[in-house]
Amino acid sequence: MRLRQAARIILIGAPGVGKGTQALRLLDRFPQLSSLSSGNLLRDHVHNQTPLGIEVSSAMASGKLVPDSIILNLIIHELQSRKWIQPASIASNQSLSSSSHTTLNNSSTASQNLTSHLTPFETSNDPLASFILDGFPRTIDQAQKLDDLIPINFVVWIKTPVSKILERIAGRWIHAPSGRVYNTTFNKPKVEGLDDITGEKLTKRQDDKLETWKKRLDQFEEANRPLLNHYSQKNLLWEVEGQSSDEITPKLFEEVRRRFGADDE
Ligand code: AMP
Repeated sequence: MRLRQAARIILIGAPGVGKGTQALRLLDRFPQLSSLSSGNLLRDHVHNQTPLGIEVSSAMASGKLVPDSIILNLIIHELQSRKWIQPASIASNQSLSSSSHTTLNNSSTASQNLTSHLTPFETSNDPLASFILDGFPRTIDQAQKLDDLIPINFVVWIKTPVSKILERIAGRWIHAPSGRVYNTTFNKPKVEGLDDITGEKLTKRQDDKLETWKKRLDQFEEANRPLLNHYSQKNLLWEVEGQSSDEITPKLFEEVRRRFGADDE
């Protein structure tokens, strides 16, 4: 389905709620959408061993957040190189492109300079400048900085009852050597407890322990409350609830179509 204007989307949802699944389905249904993942941008730098990659690698390895200035610059750089945003004036354009180049290749000190004197950007409304942000913003501070950079125009809060998420996780078993995943409710192995291909024993993933998940869900609520309030105050927040991803997808498609879809579709 075609979009008539740029959709700039954020998906928020507890771990295990199926954000990744919904994002993939949206990309498939609305081919003008792209996905922009802060984690992937960072991983590319780490993989290519750029100075920035080397700088963030230990924070990433220990699961800590990397500094806002670095993340913000990666996003600015990415949005600019796709021509989805442009500095409002040619003068600032020149100063920005030179400093962002320095930033991305040299040090985060330069990136702090860049973010501290952000100039207004012009945002493309071309439907091809449509994206789902993945992994960003993670904090209220990042959300506020993003507001100055590019106006997000749709924030989806995906909700599934906690009991359902826990049920799904409780039923999940893996074949560790191959990574094959089973679920005792909707994707059972042919023989209970055994891998279909090798016949070896299935095990639980370390992070699928229920206690760990309960903690992660609580942490999610705490960490995301300010973000949800922020977007709700801006009238951008739309909640969608369902017992499963399949129940949520049609509602999400319909809402994206209603807000951004081309009239002739
Ligand atoms: P992800 O793939 O989104 O889970 O991100 C992987 C890692 O990249 C995180 O654990 C953080 O270290 C870093 N990261 C990704 N996005 C952000 C962000 N918005 N703010 C700070 N750190 C981030």
